[in-house]
Amino acid sequence: MIKGVSVSGGLVIGHAHVIGRGDSYSAPRRKINEGEINSELAKFDAAVKLAEKELGELEKDVAKKVGKREAAIFTAQALVLSDPMFYKEVASQILTGRLNAEAALSDSISKFSHMLSSIEDIYLKERASDLRDVGKRVLGIIMKRQPIGALELEEGAVVVADELSPSTTIHMELQKVAGFVTERGSRNSHMAILARSLGIPAVVDVADATLKIRNGDQIVIDGITGAVFVNPKKNVVDEYKKLKKTLGAARRALVALAELPCLTKDGVKISLGANIGKRADAEAACLFNADGIGLYRTEFSYMIRDTLPTEEDQYQIYRKVVERLLPKEVVIRVLDLGSDKALAYFPVLKEENPSLGLRGIRFLMKYRDIFRTELNAILRVNALYPVSLLFPMISEVGEIVQAKAMLGEARTALKKKGLVFDKALKIGAMIEVPSAVLQIGRIAREVDFLSIGTNDLIQYTMAADRLSQDVENYYEELHPAILKMIQTVVDAGIAENKEVSICGEMAGDEKLTKLLLGLGLKKFSVPPGELLEVKKAIMAVSLEGSRAFAARVLKPVLRASAGRPREDGLASLLLFLGTAFPPCQAPYLWT
Ligand code: PEP
Ligand code: MG
Repeated sequence: MIKGVSVSGGLVIGHAHVIGRGDSYSAPRRKINEGEINSELAKFDAAVKLAEKELGELEKDVAKKVGKREAAIFTAQALVLSDPMFYKEVASQILTGRLNAEAALSDSISKFSHMLSSIEDIYLKERASDLRDVGKRVLGIIMKRQPIGALELEEGAVVVADELSPSTTIHMELQKVAGFVTERGSRNSHMAILARSLGIPAVVDVADATLKIRNGDQIVIDGITGAVFVNPKKNVVDEYKKLKKTLGAARRALVALAELPCLTKDGVKISLGANIGKRADAEAACLFNADGIGLYRTEFSYMIRDTLPTEEDQYQIYRKVVERLLPKEVVIRVLDLGSDKALAYFPVLKEENPSLGLRGIRFLMKYRDIFRTELNAILRVNALYPVSLLFPMISEVGEIVQAKAMLGEARTALKKKGLVFDKALKIGAMIEVPSAVLQIGRIAREVDFLSIGTNDLIQYTMAADRLSQDVENYYEELHPAILKMIQTVVDAGIAENKEVSICGEMAGDEKLTKLLLGLGLKKFSVPPGELLEVKKAIMAVSLEGSRAFAARVLKPVLRASAGRPREDGLASLLLFLGTAFPPCQAPYLWT
């Protein structure tokens, strides 16, 4: 058994599909005879030419759609290909090392990449990554490797990898994936969020998973404790089969909740929407009878393509989602790129500190054509139906003012083309940066609604990278600072008469539902796979009781620096939370 950290619950009994480490260039290796030298060299030559052609096309495409500066990265990559040193190294491995072209290339990439990345020069480190990228491209051509999108999976596969980027995950035939096991990742990585929204069990932080697990191994994932069994004994499998059956029965009982109205015990209607990233999620949201879509992360439709989606592409996708949910609300969040959400085909300059870099609205304000294209697509949908539009990563009121100005211009231009806008358009701001909380009144006055993104709010408030395992203990969702922030936003919403919703992962944790209700939140948006658990938690409590509970919890928290709080607040919170949280979190509540 290997122990990891569960980031998406459930049990799986399946077979492993191991994806090699991203930084290894595994290739078939064989010694060639003299007669094969020319054909191996020719194979390499032809692959280099094809790779050059592909890079040229990519460069043109990005230059047209994005800008010349961004396209230049492909020129740089093409230069790596024509570097005589690189060519000579591969050729000599074939000629004198008598290696087949694939192995010669694989060895050369490793050699140069290692050489360059051990140098303390940022520029040269970047070249090492160009070299790896280009090398992989050529190797892929020689090996006629299927692009990731065509990765063939057996039904019920447990995907094992060192790390899964969102673009890799999104390219898989997800309907065939039964579980994920990775060496890296965290609860807040986008792969984990995706897994939860699809209800696929996932365990991360499994040391050396890609070395210890082989293709076809039988795998049992215990997504409750984070245990991964490799080729377990029959009695272990039998035990898990039994538990799976029991949990399945509980799940079926939950499904019965889907049709019931989402009311607290004292009859208060709570809006329970879904977070989605793609049309299939919208189906899941409908299946569980969500009260609309509280967060539509549009970045996924950018990630599944090889180039930026056109206005028409986006219009078609958003229109279908809105039509599927009618008459329920769909909150479309404009592209939130940056940090771990990158596009392989849109290389932006590498940032030293990407979470604090060109993310969300900042990216859109820099690449205005991309922003305009998405606004146009959403506005065209709005010409047909009511739509809510959400701006990500707002850290300053001015950003909303500017974004609204661009929206206004796009609307005027579309009106001139004959579009009529008589359907509601609501504008919202994601509240996920502390500076936004500190100016919440002014922000609230600029928008129609506020949406609290706790994933980033915790990251930025606690200065703890949401993806890092090393600072996981600092990433405290129940920290007084976070509870105060949420309370501040809720209060501003009441004062300014603006709706406040919560859409970060905290909203989907049924253990926190009572506390969040008590803080005054009446609108939740959660991954579709968590809708029913949260609904059950809402239906189990009264609003009045939740308020009293939150007041007890918050009393010491909000009492400004007034010495040590009374213990009953701590006791009731711990009683409520049970053993669900590591004890290390408790002291923070009171300091
Ligand atoms: C958040 O930050 O809480 C959020 C919902 O946005 P994302 O997870 O997409 O950054
Ligand atoms: Mg966010």
